[in-house]
This record gives sequence, structure tokens and C-alpha cells, in this order.
Amino acid sequence: MRSNCRKKTCPKCQQKTLVVKDGFFFRRCDSRKIQRYRCKICSKKFSNATFSPAKNQKKRRFNHTLLLQLASGISQNRAAILHKCHPITIKRKFEYLAKRSRIKNKKLLESLYQDHRCTEVQFDDLITIEHTKLKPLSVTVIVDKKTRRVLGTNIATIGAFGHLAKISLKKYGKRINNHIPKMHELFKSAESYIHPLAIIESDEHKFYPQIVKTHFPGATHISFPGGKSSIAGQGELKKLKFDPLFCINHTNAMLRANINRLFRRTWNTTKRIEQLQKHLDIYCYAFNSGLIR
Ligand SMILES: [Zn+2]
Repeated sequence: MRSNCRKKTCPKCQQKTLVVKDGFFFRRCDSRKIQRYRCKICSKKFSNATFSPAKNQKKRRFNHTLLLQLASGISQNRAAILHKCHPITIKRKFEYLAKRSRIKNKKLLESLYQDHRCTEVQFDDLITIEHTKLKPLSVTVIVDKKTRRVLGTNIATIGAFGHLAKISLKKYGKRINNHIPKMHELFKSAESYIHPLAIIESDEHKFYPQIVKTHFPGATHISFPGGKSSIAGQGELKKLKFDPLFCINHTNAMLRANINRLFRRTWNTTKRIEQLQKHLDIYCYAFNSGLIR
């Protein structure tokens, strides 16, 4: 915790003028001296740590390392072994880091695109599964073509395809397909980062043009036919000499390589959609802020 020279507000009576410094305490878990304060009106005592989002945490030391590990393909159970702590501690920290990452990423993108909105973007869907192949998910990802920053991700449930469609219907009933509303939600959230006259690129998909048009009526939407995948890229990187959608395909390949639950042929699959979204939030913040490359 950085010591802060700003006047503190009393958490009980919300006034600033009669708050005085009141010594320190030593926080053992990360060996830091924390300033205490006292309110002269209601005599409430508080400290710099009272306002910290990491309040009540006992193992702050490895929050940052854990963020990098979770964005580098390490599972929560493996992280518990590496940090010699209980898996539940990691689970709690995962929730905390996801929440923080979402807030920080939003702030970061807002400050970056406040004056210069992104003029070239690419988007695509990444197909993954919810525990079984009979329950596929589609993760829509929008990236800034120049910097490769991820402008947003959103997960939709889609119906099983191919020969699995019949089996899925029999076993789990009709699966809700909310791909279109989820894409609208995503484009709406990214509107403030993208220039109204931007060039938006994607592959050919029957409902993409309509979605782009709704949110960016002045933008140019270019769609490219999909190429054959190269094996090394696990489906995202294409065998073409020049892939016009290289940027988004590369980002999606990176997501697959670095988020353990998106690995292909894995046993640690996503069990709950919201947990996958949290993991995506952690990755996007770590990537956008330059902590990982
Ligand atoms: Zn007070």
C-alpha cells in the first residue's frame, strides 16, 4: 500500500477536516508499515488499508505473480502447489483478481482511447466447450489491429453442430443460442473505444454485417473468406501465405495457449461460463497493460 498524502475521509461520518494521523501498524503478511488515522469527531479509527480492495487478505505477496500465472496457462490447482497454499485460497484470489482486472482494464482502455479512438479493428469467434463437446460456447473477441489490444470479449452459448447436434438434443434438450444478443452486448460495450468511421474486419458469417451496421453505421465492414488452419496454430493460425485476419487469429491462438481452460484436448474444461469470463478478464488486463506479451 502506497502512503497517501491526500486528506482521508472518515468512513463513519464522511468528513475530511478533522481527521488526524494516529501512528502506524506493521502488517506482517507483506512487511509493510501502514498509516493509521483517527476521526476527531466520532473518534473512529481507520488506516490506509481500510480502503484497499485487498482488505483482509493474508497472502498479498503473491497476488501479482498469480495474475501472471493465471494468464500463462497455469491451472488454479497447479498455482496452489507452486505457492504452497490451499486451493481455496487460489480460488478466492481468482475471484479477486478477476474483479480487479475487469475494473483496471476498463480504466486502461478508457484512458487509452479517450482522445484517439481505434480506427482499425478485427473480430472473430473462438469456439470452446462447456464441460462437454455437446455444449459448445462461442467467445467473441474484438481487437485493435494496430496494437493487438483486446477491446472486449463475450461468451455465448451455441447449439452443438455436426453429428453431435442430435446427441446433444437427446441428452441435454434444446440448447439456447444467445450468440446474436451477446454480440450486440459486446459491440455496445466497445463502442466508446472504436471510431465511428473505423475499418472493421472479420471473416464471413451471415449475421456479422447486420451487427456491425447496428453499432457502427458509418464504419466500413470488410469480410474475408476463412483459410485452412495450420496445425501449430490449433485452428486459429491459417496456412495462407498472407492471412488478412492474422491479428485476431493470433490473439485467439494466444488465448488458447495461455488460458488453460481453452486448451484443446484438455481435461480442465470450463464448468461454468462466468468463470471462463473471469479468466478472460484476467488475461485481457494482463495483456493490454503489457504485463505479458
Ligand atoms: Zn468520523
